[in-house]
Amino acid sequence: MTAARKDLFDLPDGVIYLDGNSLGPLPKAVKERVMQTLQQEWGHELIRAWNTKNWMDQPRRLGDKIARIIGATPGSVMVGDTLSIQVFQALSAALDMVPERRIVVSDTENFPSDLYIADGLIRLKGKDYTLRLAPPDRLNDAIDDSVAAVLLTHVDYRSGARHEMDRVTRIAHEAGAPMIWDLAHSAGAIPVDVISSSCDFAVGCTYKYLNAGPGAPAFIYIRPDLIPSVKPALTGWLGHAAPFEFDRSYRPADGIGRMRIGTPPVLQMAALDAALALWDDLDLSELWSASQALSQRFISHVEQHCPDLQLVSPRDPDARGSHVSFAFEHGYAAMQALIDKGVIGDFRAPNIMRFGFAPLYLDTADIDHSVKILREVLDRRLWDHSRYLARRPVT
Ligand SMILES: *Cc1c(COP(=O)(O)O)cnc(C)c1O
Repeated sequence: MTAARKDLFDLPDGVIYLDGNSLGPLPKAVKERVMQTLQQEWGHELIRAWNTKNWMDQPRRLGDKIARIIGATPGSVMVGDTLSIQVFQALSAALDMVPERRIVVSDTENFPSDLYIADGLIRLKGKDYTLRLAPPDRLNDAIDDSVAAVLLTHVDYRSGARHEMDRVTRIAHEAGAPMIWDLAHSAGAIPVDVISSSCDFAVGCTYKYLNAGPGAPAFIYIRPDLIPSVKPALTGWLGHAAPFEFDRSYRPADGIGRMRIGTPPVLQMAALDAALALWDDLDLSELWSASQALSQRFISHVEQHCPDLQLVSPRDPDARGSHVSFAFEHGYAAMQALIDKGVIGDFRAPNIMRFGFAPLYLDTADIDHSVKILREVLDRRLWDHSRYLARRPVT
């Protein structure tokens, strides 16, 4: 399945792309679709396209496509805004569900934006709200019946370690707290089943494994039975039951449409639509097995040939997501040298070299070649060259 799909992507010659966990590559179909949306839809139809080209339906229609990828039912996922905003929306809705409680639980390793958003929301809600952070393996102790919501990222952006979604959700529910999962590093990488986990909310982005491009919109899932009672914090006009009645008073739309805020980014939605077409006939468990085969091969070759690198990801592929990280003192410069040689991964402070494995456009030959280049960078100490040392704003 892997090699057969590589030609659906517009990857530059000579590049092995191990960073699809941060920004997926450009699918050829996206290029065509965005040009078509520009010329035939915006250019030709002008404002009529909101109706004639169904621009207004995009957030819900694309939500239904993402639903399939995360195990949700149609009508429970909405696409729009950024992941940081969707974290805010989900957490504030969760806090509304248990208004007498004041403690938000997350883990110390969570992605900073999720924690910053929680901090900001707590500040808005008032002084008696607090954020309680526990180490990822100590959540049991942190979740008790004073907890208002549990907010976690399923797959750790640095180590790749994965929480057991069903188990942690059960713990939260036993304590009477709604559970919010951030699927940023899961959606499109590993099989996820939001329904069987019975989590209350899930959010994620579409520019990582879903390949919808820089700035692509995020998504929010709400368990269907909760949707009618969810009160969105950000009450924009497009989440109104009848936006074009221009009522003075806000009335949320009946379904998941209430999670919309303002005008959708139509060009990015078009890109997402074309990117999601790749998933129509994909078996996620096959994709996941292929990813495991690639990452296991990478780990074993790196450990054999690059002893200076220390694996910081779980060794058991079922305990991680689709990326693998190694600690190395000179990791930043080594990654710059590697990128210079056509093998693109990324770096996360303080010393993590991170490699993502997306079987849609990677095969075993790519893995073998990338370890060969990595070994060369290390053997020749290329990380010690001054031109690889200067930190750039995006790592
Ligand atoms: C990538 C990522 C984000 C990024 O949020 P944006 O609003 O899209 O910039 C947030 N949280 C997690 C866990 C991520 O992995």
